[in-house]
Amino acid sequence: MSELNLVLLGPPGSGKGTQAEALQEELQLPYWATGNILRAAVEEGSGLGLEAKGFMDAGDLVPDSVVVGLIGERVTTREASDGFILDGFPRTIPQAEALDAEMERLKRSITAAILIDVSDDEVVRRLGGRRLWKRNGRIFHVEFDPPVDDDGNPVPDSELLIRDDDKPDVIRRRLELYHAKTAPLIEYYDDRGLLRRVDGSRTQDDVAGRISAILATLAMEDEL
Ligand code: AMP
Repeated sequence: MSELNLVLLGPPGSGKGTQAEALQEELQLPYWATGNILRAAVEEGSGLGLEAKGFMDAGDLVPDSVVVGLIGERVTTREASDGFILDGFPRTIPQAEALDAEMERLKRSITAAILIDVSDDEVVRRLGGRRLWKRNGRIFHVEFDPPVDDDGNPVPDSELLIRDDDKPDVIRRRLELYHAKTAPLIEYYDDRGLLRRVDGSRTQDDVAGRISAILATLAMEDEL
C-alpha cells in the first residue's frame, strides 16, 4: 500500500493504546497518542503542560486549538511520509475536520478509522479497577491482575493509589464526553466509507487479529 494513515477510535479503556503500540511495531509507522504527548508535557512542566493539566485532571477535553497544533506539526514531518497511527485524536468533529484539511493540503487522506468498540460497563470495570503501586509505579487491576508483590503477598491498600482520571466520577465524566463529543466521529468516518469496527470486548490477541485482517483487506483493495 502506498501509505497508511490510520485513526484509532474508541472509548477510554478500549485498549487503543495497547493495539496501537503493537501495530507500530508491525507496520513500522510513527504512532502518536495525544494523551501521552500531553501527559509528557505535564511532567515536564512546559507551557503546554500547564495549559493542559487542569482539563486532564478533571477528565475534560483539552481545547481543540491546542491539540490540533500538536498533531498538525507531526503529520507534516518526513517521519510520517509512509503513514502514521493516531490514538486519541481526533476526539471531536472540529479536530477531524482540521485533520482532513491538513491531509488535503498535503494531498493525502485518511486510509481508515478503526473503532474498538467497548460498552460503558466494561470501561468502568476496566478503568475503575486500576491501581498504581506508589512505591514503584507498577499498575495492577483488582480483578484481572491483582496487586501482589514478587513473593505473591498482597500489596496493602495504603500503598495503592487510584490515578485521578481513573476515579469513578472522572471515568463517568470521560464517558459522557466520549458519547457527546467523540462518538459522532463514528458517523463522520462511516459517511466517508472509512469506518472499520472491531469488538473490543474480546481478548487483546483477538482484537489484534481482527485489526490485522482489516489491514490486509485494505491492502488488497488498494491493489485493485
Ligand atoms: P487519553 O490518554 O487518550 O485518555 O487522554 C488523557 C486526557 O488527555 C484526556 O482525558 C483529555 O483531557 C486529554 N486529551 C487527549 N487527547 C485529546 C484530544 N484529542 N482532544 C482533547 N483532549 C485530549
